[in-house]
Amino acid sequence: MNNLAYRLDDVATAERPNTGRYAAERLEGLAATLFRPMGADGVYARTGAYEEVVDALAALITRHRDPVAEVFRFPPVMSRRVLETSGYLKSFPNLLGCVCCMDGSEAEVRGAVNRFVEGGAYTDALNVADLILTPASCYPIYPIAAARGVLPDDGLLFDVGCDCFRREPSRDLDRLQSFRMREYVRIGSADQISAFRESWMETARGIVEGLHLSYTVEVANDPFFGRGGQLMAVSQRQQSLKFELLIPVISAQQPTACMSFNYHQDHFGTTWGINQTDGKPAHTGCVAFGMDRLAVALFATHGSKAAKWPAAVRQMLRL
Ligand code: AMP
Ligand code: ZN
Repeated sequence: MNNLAYRLDDVATAERPNTGRYAAERLEGLAATLFRPMGADGVYARTGAYEEVVDALAALITRHRDPVAEVFRFPPVMSRRVLETSGYLKSFPNLLGCVCCMDGSEAEVRGAVNRFVEGGAYTDALNVADLILTPASCYPIYPIAAARGVLPDDGLLFDVGCDCFRREPSRDLDRLQSFRMREYVRIGSADQISAFRESWMETARGIVEGLHLSYTVEVANDPFFGRGGQLMAVSQRQQSLKFELLIPVISAQQPTACMSFNYHQDHFGTTWGINQTDGKPAHTGCVAFGMDRLAVALFATHGSKAAKWPAAVRQMLRL
């Protein structure tokens, strides 16, 4: 496994672009360096070498934090009711992961376990719990902000993060079911959100340029579910509510979204009753960093040995 990684390391150069067979082989080699299988596609044990880079990226993002930002780190699960209220089921029901538990009577639980021991099915004894796997790190912050009452004139700014889950199993290194997301979330007036988003799109460019990663920033849409979702996607694009920073991780033709810059208009303000001083619902926006995708992008671009990355990149990451 390691030999493979070393050998394929050699092809990760500018002369051999991220296309075709070389890309496939190189990524296979990378996978062996970064991850170990855990029995499910998109759910991986992460190596120390990989985590060192994820930690360095997290610290780099923290160094760009506005000092007024309030920090929260959320668990990988959240209240099912909060996510339902947020409208997640309307937009992305297919990506949802829900916690199920065996909370029947002792006899029922014992019966299910016995069925399992005898080689039979037991999962019918599982009941849907009041918990859901957090699909994006900003959902839990809105009810917390709402509990504070009317927004201050300057609005609010949060630094949030958690392990996220999305049910999109894939063997691609850049599409995980369980991944880390970090976000800066701004709550305020439409103008405040617009200024926040503009400024972060600029800052993000500086960060990825400093990391010597190729990128583009483009208008994007969320993968809204089903046919009705297509209309939502068109409308989101027409209003430029979402931009993504894309990096050619697996191929230049289909670059990978590693960060997103989102404007939710007054959706969360209305949903959670967060009001501005003039009584109008607050607007919200977030900039999301896909920590795992950014780390994979660095390895895919600069090679599987962080010690051999360009000095400027290592310096930027303080590696
Ligand atoms: P989104 O809310 O879809 O804009 O996601 C925010 C960021 O999370 C994206 O820009 C990605 O970097 C990251 N992300 C989303 N889905 C995945 C996934 N399946 N695997 C890894 N990272 C992801
Ligand atoms: Zn968000």
